[in-house]
Amino acid sequence: MPMQNYGIDIWGDQNFVIKEDRVHVNYKSSPSLLEITQQIRQSGLRGPLILRFPHLIGKQINTLYKTFNAALKENDYTGKFRAVFPLKVNQFPEAVNAIIDHGGPHSYGLEAGSKAELIIAMAKTPKGSPITVNGFKDTEMITLGFMAAHMGHDITLTIEGIGELESIIDVASSCNLKVPNIGIRIRLKSSGSGAWAKSGGMDAKFGLTTTELLEAIALLREHELLQHFSMIHFHIGSQMEDIAPLKKALREAGNIYAELKKMGAEGLRAINIGGGLAVEYSQHLSTRLKNYHLGEFASSVAFLLKEVMDAKGVAQPDIFTESGRYIVASHAVLIAPVLELFSHDYQEKSLKLKETNPPLIQELRTLNEQVTPKNCIEYMHDALDHMESVLTLFELGYIDLEDRSNAEILVHLIIKKSLYLFRGKPTPELERLQGRMQERYLINSSIFQSMPDYWGLGQHFPVMPLDRLDKPAIRSASLWDITCDSDGEVAFNPEAPLYLHDVNLDEEEYYLGFFNIGAYQETLGMQHNLFKHPSECTIMLNNEGYEIENFIESENLLTILSDLGYNDSQILIQLKNNLAQAHFSTEEEKSDTLQQLELYLYQNGYLRTTN
Ligand SMILES: *Cc1c(COP(=O)(O)O)cnc(C)c1O
Repeated sequence: MPMQNYGIDIWGDQNFVIKEDRVHVNYKSSPSLLEITQQIRQSGLRGPLILRFPHLIGKQINTLYKTFNAALKENDYTGKFRAVFPLKVNQFPEAVNAIIDHGGPHSYGLEAGSKAELIIAMAKTPKGSPITVNGFKDTEMITLGFMAAHMGHDITLTIEGIGELESIIDVASSCNLKVPNIGIRIRLKSSGSGAWAKSGGMDAKFGLTTTELLEAIALLREHELLQHFSMIHFHIGSQMEDIAPLKKALREAGNIYAELKKMGAEGLRAINIGGGLAVEYSQHLSTRLKNYHLGEFASSVAFLLKEVMDAKGVAQPDIFTESGRYIVASHAVLIAPVLELFSHDYQEKSLKLKETNPPLIQELRTLNEQVTPKNCIEYMHDALDHMESVLTLFELGYIDLEDRSNAEILVHLIIKKSLYLFRGKPTPELERLQGRMQERYLINSSIFQSMPDYWGLGQHFPVMPLDRLDKPAIRSASLWDITCDSDGEVAFNPEAPLYLHDVNLDEEEYYLGFFNIGAYQETLGMQHNLFKHPSECTIMLNNEGYEIENFIESENLLTILSDLGYNDSQILIQLKNNLAQAHFSTEEEKSDTLQQLELYLYQNGYLRTTN
């Protein structure tokens, strides 16, 4: 069935709305994505484009704090709610700056999982906002953590194993820097659900077992560092679609916390419940992913932790979260121009009819001219039947290639018209035909670069055209990217079908928007075929209109090669010399061509000509 709103009410979270024929940003002046795109392309930019909307990051941060604080209040919870953004989810400066700007009033902090991320956190986190450090750490990284504490940061180094604790002890005894807070990641019996569940559970890559935990406490006590042990941490996995595993994990972690308090861990005051808040990516009700809302999530956390602490007579800890996907997924939209529809040839104008055509072709022409809502099913059956006969005649040598091509075009046209006339009330047969008559849309972008989780995990991202939303979309669509790799395809999925418009790209433009791509995709993206991070810009909306800020074009060809270790200036000279030595009829032609070559080398690596 042609879906007109592309499930925007399922995945859109009111961030985008359809007005008349276009999708608009649902904020302040509410411009359409198409008008923003066209304005940016006026400068001559071609290729895919990432639009960032910082106000959506602000919305997520505010909602997170508001919902958690309300849940704490409702449950008379005495600990505080605190949160950090895990940098691995999006380290791009424009995303991080928006996080810092909007997070400031809440003292929202940053989480780092590597040295480079730790440096970002140390430079960007305002004093008073927390920094947490997870992942494997060497002595240098631990020392950086001590430096951050010495600078006055509220930093917690979460240890993933006893070895790291030993390094902390060494650094503490060998330097006079301030000792940071120490967190311990605990290995829970309960694990998460979904494709990312490997982060939790007894066989998880991270965290200390109960035995190691006891050993850690003994070591901390022995080296007089126990007062710095302030947090226990767990993370049961990303894109947690079911809330049940979290509840189990909270009970288990809550009891561990209470026991540690009773054992004399005086500095201990926080439970870090990791990330994992899910984002809805589905465009169809039947494939919806999440089974909870943030409100339920926050209430469960407050209620369960309070219950456990009350039962054990322990004060309620502060609650830290590290949800990243939830914060940034919605802020980025990838706009990909459609370059080509592969069955474009099946058009009326491609017909090459002869003066006299075989009778079957004549009949197909009549069917095509006279198809109506009433007769379309019957005519379609006739057309399919005629097609069989045409193919038989061709094999027997009675008709030629031109006749066969005409027949194919006519049958396609008749089926397309029938699908259009019958839209909204498709029969199973029509749906089957529609599935078989897929149109392949070639998009000017790389799935490997811009949606690597589609390639690696089959993660679907909501997609819709930016305009024509008042017109029926009847072509069952598969999307092909411009890499030379057959995996660079979003295939048509009958369980969650995508229908797009029939467009004539010789005369009009057609853009697809891919939504919720702001989490993980940008740095996970691969440079397959040397397609690099797309051009990007930040859109700041106000009541009158919007500003386009921080426009960064995708890397030009010479820079791409230089990044890879080639000597780009040498390549430039070499190509120019080779061309200069070639034969040209005039000096002018030669210098024009040389100029053209240089121009090309300074353009970005995506396709330009068609769109
Ligand atoms: C990746 C990660 C997160 C973020 O998970 P999301 O699913 O993006 O919320 C939080 N904490 C830790 C330790 C992580 O490794």
